[in-house]
Amino acid sequence: QSKSNGQNQYCFFTPDMNEEVSKKLLLESDLRKGLKEGQFQLYYQPQVSVASGEVKGYEALIRWEHPEYGMVSPGDFIPLAEETGLIIPLGRWVLEEACRQMMAWIKDGGGVLRMSVNISAIQFQQPDFVQIVKDILAETGLPPAYLELEMTETIVQDTTQSIPVMKEIRDMGVKISLDDFGTGYSSLSYLKDFPLNTLKIDKSFIDNMEQGSREKAIVDAIIHMAHRLEFNVIAEGIENEAQLQLLSGEACEEYQGYYYSPPLPSSKIEK
Ligand code: C2E
Ligand code: MG
Ligand code: MG
Ligand code: MG
Repeated sequence: QSKSNGQNQYCFFTPDMNEEVSKKLLLESDLRKGLKEGQFQLYYQPQVSVASGEVKGYEALIRWEHPEYGMVSPGDFIPLAEETGLIIPLGRWVLEEACRQMMAWIKDGGGVLRMSVNISAIQFQQPDFVQIVKDILAETGLPPAYLELEMTETIVQDTTQSIPVMKEIRDMGVKISLDDFGTGYSSLSYLKDFPLNTLKIDKSFIDNMEQGSREKAIVDAIIHMAHRLEFNVIAEGIENEAQLQLLSGEACEEYQGYYYSPPLPSSKIEK
């Protein structure tokens, strides 16, 4: 910010801000180094059929094994990676790694149909994003139908830009899901234009979903609406039997959550 203020302006930093700035710089150089030295890893969380209990897909979730701080969660470094532009190489690595892993599981006869990968707005807005996805599919040999890209409402806000790109992705045979649905500046008007396959109901609705609750009414309504639009529905953050019971009374296709399994490294998924 101070850069764009011009030479003649003063910029005041409190000691607190200095600390913030240096922490950020430190973490930014750590991020670069981490990427170069292979400190990132993908964990996978099963997406499970409500009706049959079968695993239908996996969501890839990034983890950072920091040499000093230990495991750093994506909530703590994805925003910084976005601010610094490092999300571009990092996001590319995630996509490559997830496709490579999925291809390996297909070859092993794993029987799982889908790999879902989170895509940041900054990544999606790159002019060569579609080409990158194509390149990675070609490189890894993964058939496009196995890949699903998870996007949030922030990505899709600028509809004149995003809808044509989403359509290109869909025309390649790759699936698209709308993540954290219900938490953004919703957006019922977008829904009619988006070429979505899946809508993921945000955990915040699931958390307080009890029989007769307002959350239950909203979850109900989201599922019905999604089906009328021919989207599949995944409920996020199912933590207990009671929540799953409530959900099985709905026509919701799939769920994810600690109740079935937390995200796990590939070695544990294979077991
Ligand atoms: P998300 O895509 O909505 O992922 C769901 C988050 O909920 C994950 O947190 C997952 O571990 C957590 N979760 C799953 N089931 C439960 C449950 O039953 N209870 C609770 N309390 N939590 C549950 P995680 O892995 O920390 O990721 C947080 C967010 O970071 C993700 O939210 C996503 O927005 C972002 N993220 C993660 N990996 C990537 C990535 O590779 N690229 C990008 N751009 N963003 C990522
Ligand atoms: Mg997600
Ligand atoms: Mg989510
Ligand atoms: Mg989220």
